[in-house]
Amino acid sequence: MSSKIEVQRICQYCEQEFTARTTVTKYCSHKCASRAYKDRTRKKKIQKSNAETTQIIKQPIEIVKAKEFLTVREVAQLLNCSIRSAYYYIKSGTISAVNLGERMTRVKRSEIDKLFKDN
Ligand SMILES: [Zn+2]
Repeated sequence: MSSKIEVQRICQYCEQEFTARTTVTKYCSHKCASRAYKDRTRKKKIQKSNAETTQIIKQPIEIVKAKEFLTVREVAQLLNCSIRSAYYYIKSGTISAVNLGERMTRVKRSEIDKLFKDN
């Protein structure tokens, strides 16, 4: 069995044509491979840093507002009241909620908006 295959490939880093011995070789040289690796690592670092920045900028309340279904804790956050009060409003029927199970009470975001519509 011979492994002496030669394929013409384009280096994914320097974009020069080169002769590869396998069909999966991506780079013409070790130099290009390590440079490409460095590039990838740098990009990942930048991405991670950007993601962290976005997370800091976004206030939790904005995330809550964007949700369609809210937990009781989030309802309390939106209404600026205590969790106990939120539970009271749900129990008294002021806020319609669905109880999916223990600690799985969910309130539709639109139910919160409804509270303020008639006023
Ligand atoms: Zn190359």
